[in-house]
Amino acid sequence: MLPPMHAIRLDNVSKHYTDHHATDAVSLAIEPGQFAVVLGPSGCGKTTLLRLIAGLEHPDDGRIELHGRDVTGLPPGRRELGMVFQSYALFPHLSVAENLLFGLKLRGTRRNDRQRRLAETARLLGLEALLARKPSQLSGGQQQRVALGRAIIGGRRTVLMDEPLSNLDAKLRHEMRRELRNLARELDMTVLYVTHDQAEALGMGDVVVVMNQGRIEQIASPEILYERPSSLFVARFIGTPPMNLLPLQAGPRIEGTDHLLSIVAEGHEQVLGLRPEQLELAPPGAGIEVLVDAVEYLGADAVLSCRIGRHELSARVPGRLRPQPGEILRLGWKPHAVNLFDAASGRRLPDPPVPFPQAR
Ligand code: ATP
Repeated sequence: MLPPMHAIRLDNVSKHYTDHHATDAVSLAIEPGQFAVVLGPSGCGKTTLLRLIAGLEHPDDGRIELHGRDVTGLPPGRRELGMVFQSYALFPHLSVAENLLFGLKLRGTRRNDRQRRLAETARLLGLEALLARKPSQLSGGQQQRVALGRAIIGGRRTVLMDEPLSNLDAKLRHEMRRELRNLARELDMTVLYVTHDQAEALGMGDVVVVMNQGRIEQIASPEILYERPSSLFVARFIGTPPMNLLPLQAGPRIEGTDHLLSIVAEGHEQVLGLRPEQLELAPPGAGIEVLVDAVEYLGADAVLSCRIGRHELSARVPGRLRPQPGEILRLGWKPHAVNLFDAASGRRLPDPPVPFPQAR
């Protein structure tokens, strides 16, 4: 049997600028039809990764394949990729039809072929009635479809997108996410989408690639990233408010407190990770004792900022509970809620055995 062919595959790709690695031995494989999101803080190398795949930068090391073809040494024009950039980059003085046709003309596509592709792309994206308009006469969603049309009119179904929604206001951005995701699915496109917005990544990605300082921290579905982060970096980066991270001392107990936990912590300095919504009010005698510092009431739920020893802890509880600042509460959690990390390496440790670990 032949090995599965990936739409995009990188093997140990590195790009080095004078004093640092923009991407450092990056390997990843994206399946055909997947919507993959590259997520990470500013400067972590997302755009560099996209530019390497597009052929706008050349790697110092490693290999890039598109649909099974080694493209590492090929110029951008021969990689058969579509690109959508920030704020769509449509030409304001050209009509929708001219915007769509621009790339084909540059490439010297014959007139008959151009007209056929224009008609087909306009039909696919529902732009037939808008071909004579200028970008300024279009809604945000229509502009997005023109930008996407321009990326796929040449027959390309593998598209790279660099923060295409970053210049839109929050409401429009939200609508556009859904529309873009639906279009990608309908057209069976493979998309590699760069963003620094975790809500965008979790909401849109089949798979999310989390980058940190030029390296990949984790590649996983949004659910796995959220529930089983592979490192402290991912645990901190994903989730609002972020995961609570409590250093454990030998004992094991939460550092600086008397709270003993039945966690297997032999020989390791560990960090206990608990999502705010997985903390719940515990009956007297159970759970850990916290002091409520502040309460942010959000309607359906409330976010409590609490203190335990010298650590801060957020808990998301049902809004109707309305605890008051200054109150002392006991918080517990279910066994599956626990994440454990090695404090020195920051890597995730194997899940502890169940039944586990009520505070005692
Ligand atoms: P942002 O979200 O801010 O766009 P990013 O994750 O896309 O950031 P990159 O633009 O890929 O990050 O940059 C990665 C690192 O490489 C940064 O430290 C950046 O300063 C550096 N860098 C990017 N391009 C060059 C260049 N042409 N020469 C030197 N350094 C560069």
